[in-house]
This record gives sequence, C-alpha cells and structure tokens, in this order.
Amino acid sequence: MSVETKVDFIIVGQGLAGSVLALELVKRKKNIIVFDEPEKNRASLIAAGLFNPVTGKLMTRTWKAAELFSALRFFYSEAEQVIKKKCFYPMPLYRPFLSVEEQNEWMGKSAESGMLDHIEKVFPHSTYGSDVNDYFGGLLLKNCGYLDTTAFLSGVRQMLIGSNCFKDVYFDETKVGWSDHEVRYEGIRADKIIYANGLGAQQSIFFNQLPLRALKGETLLIKTASTFERIYNRGVYLVPVGEKGVYKVGATYNTKDKTGATTAEGKSELVEKLNGLIKVSYDIVGQDWGFRPTTPDRRPVLGAHPDHPNLVIFNGLGTKGVSLAPYFASQMAQWLCGEGEIEKAVRVSRFY
Ligand SMILES: Cc1cc2nc3c(=O)[nH]c(=O)nc-3n(C[C@H](O)[C@H](O)[C@H](O)COP(=O)(O)OP(=O)(O)OC[C@H]3O[C@@H](n4cnc5c(N)ncnc54)[C@H](O)[C@@H]3O)c2cc1C
Repeated sequence: MSVETKVDFIIVGQGLAGSVLALELVKRKKNIIVFDEPEKNRASLIAAGLFNPVTGKLMTRTWKAAELFSALRFFYSEAEQVIKKKCFYPMPLYRPFLSVEEQNEWMGKSAESGMLDHIEKVFPHSTYGSDVNDYFGGLLLKNCGYLDTTAFLSGVRQMLIGSNCFKDVYFDETKVGWSDHEVRYEGIRADKIIYANGLGAQQSIFFNQLPLRALKGETLLIKTASTFERIYNRGVYLVPVGEKGVYKVGATYNTKDKTGATTAEGKSELVEKLNGLIKVSYDIVGQDWGFRPTTPDRRPVLGAHPDHPNLVIFNGLGTKGVSLAPYFASQMAQWLCGEGEIEKAVRVSRFY
C-alpha cells in the first residue's frame, strides 16, 4: 500500500510568483510542495530584475507604488536571511533629460507630494557625463534597484529541496483528482493547488479561458571597462548582473513576435537605444529572450477557479514581477489562510 503525503498547498511553478508565494506560506507555517519543470526561457530568469516606482513614457508613479515598494523592501531583505543568499540590490536610477523643456517639467514635478518620496535629486546640468549623454541634466530616483533573480530563485529552490518539498518535474493536471475538501495528485493530498505557472496557464484545462497574453522581450548582455554606481535608464536600462563591468540591457516589448528565439531586429533596436544613452565602449557578450505573462488590464490575477474552489491562480505579473510579487503574494497567503480578502482589482472573477 502506498503512503500518502498530506500538505496544505501544492504550488505549480517556481518562477517569481511561485517562489515568493512559497516563502510567504512557509513563513505562515504551512506545509507545501512545489512542482517546477525548468524551462530555459522562463520569464523570471530572463528578467533584469529591475524595480522602479516611476515608470512609463510619461514617468508617473506606478499603480500602488507606496504599498508595493514598502512590501518589496521588507520581503526581499527578509528573504535574503531565509535563503542565506545575497540577491537584493537597492540602487539609485538616473534618467537623463532629452531637452530643456523636460528639465523644466521635472523641476516642477519634483515638488509634487507623491513624487517627493521617489526623487533623490533633479540635476539641471550634465552630472554623469563620463558614462552617459546627459547634456540637459537628469533625474536621480530613489527606491529603485534590482533583484538578482537567478540568485533568488536558486536560493529558494535550495531551501525547498532542503526541506524536502520540491519536485523538479512537470505537473500533469490531467492526473488531479478531488473530493469536496481536498485535491489529490500522485499520492499527495492537499487543500488547494495554486497555479503559479506563468504562461503555462495558457495550456491549463482549468485556466486557459483567462486572457493571459505573452509579451516577448529581448535583452543584451554587454561588457564594459566601466563600473556604474547607479542604474541608467532612457529607452533602455543597464542593470548589473554580478560580474564586474557586465550589464543586462533591456528590454524590447513585442506583442506580435511569438518565436522562441532572439532576433536581429531585437538586437538592433537595443543597440540603437543603448548608443543614444551611454558614452563608454562595450562588447556584446550575449542576447536573450523571454515572454512576460500579461493581462489586458495590466493587473495580476489572483483567486479560485469559479467551478473548482480548490484550484487557485496567482499569475499575470506582466512587466513588473519583482515589484508586484511580494505585496500580492502576501495578500494571497492571507486569503489562503482565511485571514483576509483579495482586492477587487486583481480578482480572477473579473474575467469570468
Ligand atoms: C525580457 C524580460 C525582461 C524582464 N525584466 C523585468 C524587470 O526588469 N523587472 C521586473 O519586475 N520584471 C521583469 N520581467 C517580467 C518578469 O520576468 C515576470 O513578471 C515574472 O518573471 C513572471 O513570473 P512567473 O513566476 O509568473 O512566471 P515564470 O517566470 O514564467 O515562471 C513560471 C514557472 O512555472 C513553471 N511551469 C509552468 N507550467 C508547469 C507545469 N505544468 N509543471 C511544473 N512547472 C510548470 C515554468 O517552468 C516556470 O518555471 C521581464 C520579463 C522579460 C521576458
């Protein structure tokens, strides 16, 4: 007779969504098992890991910036202790101005109350001119930085393996069985299964109705003789990757290209923007691609399947997985533990 294992939750996927949620549930003393089929190009490993509260062409404060950014600071600092690995790098971000008009506009904007929290300084003159083209000065933002997603994900994985709650295999949902109060999967009984499987949800028989869309992104890896003490961002960003003088440059946004490969167009777009930004010489040492799991309203998607209450989704982190995951994983964990609600804007029910 085979021995059954009983856990509180099965998590499908160990990208950013699954990893952050796993830590939130372990913190609440829940028993979990995480399944992950490693795919080279999962979004979480391709990501530069950048977080920045002032984004978009119009450079506005991102949605729920105050809540998201205080949650992420706390979460990743604590996570480093739990996984015993350095992965969280707060760092200022500098955005050169392109004109005097833009400079004037930011002189005014910097006095706005919401922005005050995020602006370190507005420079009216070239300040980092040995690194970048900033003839009109630029904007130095605080509360920015990057998560080394490779270190974070491998740290979480090692922790889960050490606690005997990780399975490095594909989760085949056709083998799921259930009764009223629990689900069963290959000798494991659980209260709920949480789908944190990124674009894998598009193939799910339970969640393929959700409007999850793949947004392709390409990045370059460059090597320079320079070491930058801040992230530069204008058209593209340059984010350190851990090795001296090596930076990730990204990213493209392509809704039409569904090919799983790097492209010459992606490379030339990034090179053109990079040459407009930095002054130092560099060698291109790599190029990569990935697909972001996005939703039409650019909000994450959380909650239970309408017909199967013990099948739950945590997905749609889109272009901002690093900053969205901690706040919403905490909300998700509270809800799973019966301690709170999922806020309306991100509930899965908006799509059913
Ligand atoms: C080029 C690029 C640059 C980016 N840069 C940034 C950035 O700078 N900052 C930022 O915040 N975000 C960035 N993002 C977005 C970020 O990567 C995503 O928001 C985030 O990684 C999504 O995480 P996820 O866990 O939902 O999905 P994924 O990372 O795709 O993880 C899903 C996991 O589920 C697993 N899986 C799927 N189906 C199954 C199954 N049936 N059984 C077992 N395992 C399964 C997959 O193998 C995978 O490991 C970028 C994305 C791209 C593509």
